[in-house]
Amino acid sequence: LGWNEALGLVLAEDIASDIDLPPHDKSVVDGYALQAAGAAPGAVLTILEEITAGMVPSKRVEPGTATRIMTGAPIPAGADAVVMVEQTALLSESRVRIDAPLVKQGQNIMRRASSRACGEQVLRSGTTLRPIEMGILAEVGRTDVQAIPRPELSLVITGNELVPSNQVPGPGQIRNSNFNLLTGLAIQARAGMFTEGGIVRDDSASLRKALTTAMRHHVVVVSGGVSMGVLDLVPQVLTELGVEQVFHKVNLKPGKPLWFGVKTHPGREQKTLVFGLPGNPVSTLVCFELFVRPAIQKLSGLEPTGLPRDRAILTKDHQQRGERATYWPAAIGKRDGESEVTPLPWKGSGDLATLAGANCLAYFPPGERLFKAGEQIEVLHLSS
Ligand code: AMP
Ligand code: MG
Repeated sequence: LGWNEALGLVLAEDIASDIDLPPHDKSVVDGYALQAAGAAPGAVLTILEEITAGMVPSKRVEPGTATRIMTGAPIPAGADAVVMVEQTALLSESRVRIDAPLVKQGQNIMRRASSRACGEQVLRSGTTLRPIEMGILAEVGRTDVQAIPRPELSLVITGNELVPSNQVPGPGQIRNSNFNLLTGLAIQARAGMFTEGGIVRDDSASLRKALTTAMRHHVVVVSGGVSMGVLDLVPQVLTELGVEQVFHKVNLKPGKPLWFGVKTHPGREQKTLVFGLPGNPVSTLVCFELFVRPAIQKLSGLEPTGLPRDRAILTKDHQQRGERATYWPAAIGKRDGESEVTPLPWKGSGDLATLAGANCLAYFPPGERLFKAGEQIEVLHLSS
């Protein structure tokens, strides 16, 4: 990969420096390179030459002399310290007085190879490539790197009732909001994205066609068609296509109908992970965050940690109902340095609009229980 395609990816090789860093002893200030022994306060030295960054010194510094030197420039032979210009006075074009109280050997000099020596490791395989690592790659002359590529994810959106978002829904129809939602989630989770066939109709032939194409990628995310309705044909079609079901239904609210399976491809090591997400937008979101995001992280070589977890104090009572683990849309913030969380007045898994103000999901474990204001609970931060 070119270095500029590698941001956020995980490095798949060790990288060593091809040169000494820095490549020469260099000055870290603007000032005068001299011999520390002869630089008592008040000493007047003869200026030999001026070396700016990019130049090479031509004169040896002897007792009684100094070279005017700029930050980054190579230290001339004979010099063992640099006094910063602020601690000197220029007496004439060729004479400088040293006013520094105490000049120590090595002062203001960054030694050759003091950062890394030629051949020494600078980056370890498994490192996530951030802007810092991009800079390091340049320092060691790497324009290409081996990195774990983003997993390719394809979206299959199902539902006879769906119309594209640029249309006004007719009777019985709704807009396809999951396409936008899942596209955003997949991009945030740093998957490469593909979409198959627009809106796929709820019949076996259409599903088979769209899913077969999608199966070329590492991850397939299907929206809709995994519940118990007469047109929820996705699990059956996936099974017919040779996707081995791992589980169907989870003890989760929202998101109970979730389906997950794995497709192995003859003669190919790479498997396809297939997630059938329930079509209600908030179920889609929660299932993606809890199941698909960690899978993408794992395939990317990262720790599959999912969304960042936190704890916060409830600002109001919340009644947890039923036997399913619940992720309730909520707003988290700070008051007096303490995290506090407010569950939103959410109308259920079809109510995406209320999530406009949500920045986290509040977790309530299964079981009927009244959570009281002031109790500490667990939350998952949503990405911004
Ligand atoms: P399903 O999972 O297909 O049974 O759909 C469950 C609910 O989610 C139904 O009310 C659907 O209309 C709705 N729904 C399904 N797909 C989408 C989508 N792409 N965008 C918005 N809502 C959807
Ligand atoms: Mg449907």
